[in-house]
Amino acid sequence: MAIPSFQIATIKGDGIGIDVTDATIAVIDAAQNRVGGFSLDYRQILAGAGYYRETGLDIEENGEEVAGTADAIFLGAIGLPSVRYEDGTEISPHLRLRDRFQLYAGIRPIKAYPNIPRKLSDERAAAIDMIILRESTEGLFYSAAAHNRCPVENDDEVQDTLRITRKTTEKLHDFAFNMARKRKEKGSRGLVTCVDKANVFKSMAFFRKIFDERSQAFPDIEKGYNYVDAQALDLIRKPWDFDILVMENMFGDILSDLAGGLVGGMGMAACGEIGDHHGLFQPAHGTAPDIMGQDKANPLAAILSGSLMLEYLADKTGVQALSAAAEIISDAIHSGFSQNTIRPTELGGDMGTRAVTQEIIRLIHS
Ligand code: ATP
Ligand code: MG
Repeated sequence: MAIPSFQIATIKGDGIGIDVTDATIAVIDAAQNRVGGFSLDYRQILAGAGYYRETGLDIEENGEEVAGTADAIFLGAIGLPSVRYEDGTEISPHLRLRDRFQLYAGIRPIKAYPNIPRKLSDERAAAIDMIILRESTEGLFYSAAAHNRCPVENDDEVQDTLRITRKTTEKLHDFAFNMARKRKEKGSRGLVTCVDKANVFKSMAFFRKIFDERSQAFPDIEKGYNYVDAQALDLIRKPWDFDILVMENMFGDILSDLAGGLVGGMGMAACGEIGDHHGLFQPAHGTAPDIMGQDKANPLAAILSGSLMLEYLADKTGVQALSAAAEIISDAIHSGFSQNTIRPTELGGDMGTRAVTQEIIRLIHS
């Protein structure tokens, strides 16, 4: 029988996006070699600020269509301070992809690794392992970005819109509960916490009502509630108590950065954006022009996003070898930190992008 093959659309983008994408592909290839049972076919799509400067296009012709036919999309990072669209806004073809493919479920894993300097001295902080699940197509951001539907916008007053729809919210909560179930099988607590401001906003009360409705189908999963302000405090006081936090777009934007800060820098922040038929994976950081081309970028956020991508493909296709490859990558990173053989510059260590990548590959093969 032929081994299953998957097409990955890669958009390296700009700045450190290019280095961390190369690093991720090298690590995934090593894991794939080690595990076997599947093959990946990469199709590079040219896009970004540099590409726009050269061609006047922010993504190559048909690039969006090609991304749409791939089994998954991997993105480095896009944007350069000196390059803008004619209206002065930042180059952002990836936001169009999110919109076009309705990537409503934004996943930000927050996990502590050994030997990374942590902000909390409490030893329980070593056990931090949660997912922030952020709705990514509506909420308060809906009025910003692509839609720009301000009900009032004049020189005396501006209003934005917070939009919550039943359809997307049902899918989001189902996604959260299903993910909790999957994590529970691997030993996590099986708890989903709905983070909102239901005491003040009707839209948020609606968000919570749908959370309750959908939870009925998941009696094996514990549910919790927290107002977003209390949640911010709890993320500092007892982050080890949480498993999956599900929330509206802007709350997720803020809390995921806060939570990310507890377990390392931007260089550790992985991200997946998932819709009904598409998944886009990228590090949560930007192009970091201040360190580009200096071999200083921490590739781990990207590599961890690549590992998320393999898990996503495994779920989508049922090919278990993909899941095994994801696990081999996570295990390598974990043991590298435990043994202190992974020491990224960003975290005060002495290893640049290439050295960190080579070490992960060595651990995968060992
Ligand atoms: P964006 O607008 O895309 O969010 P940004 O301007 O907020 O981008 P980032 O590129 O996300 O900036 O990062 C901010 C700073 O954090 C960078 O300038 C860089 O110094 C540091 N940084 C970000 N990612 C990494 C990384 N992977 N490794 C090391 N340092 C990083
Ligand atoms: Mg930023």
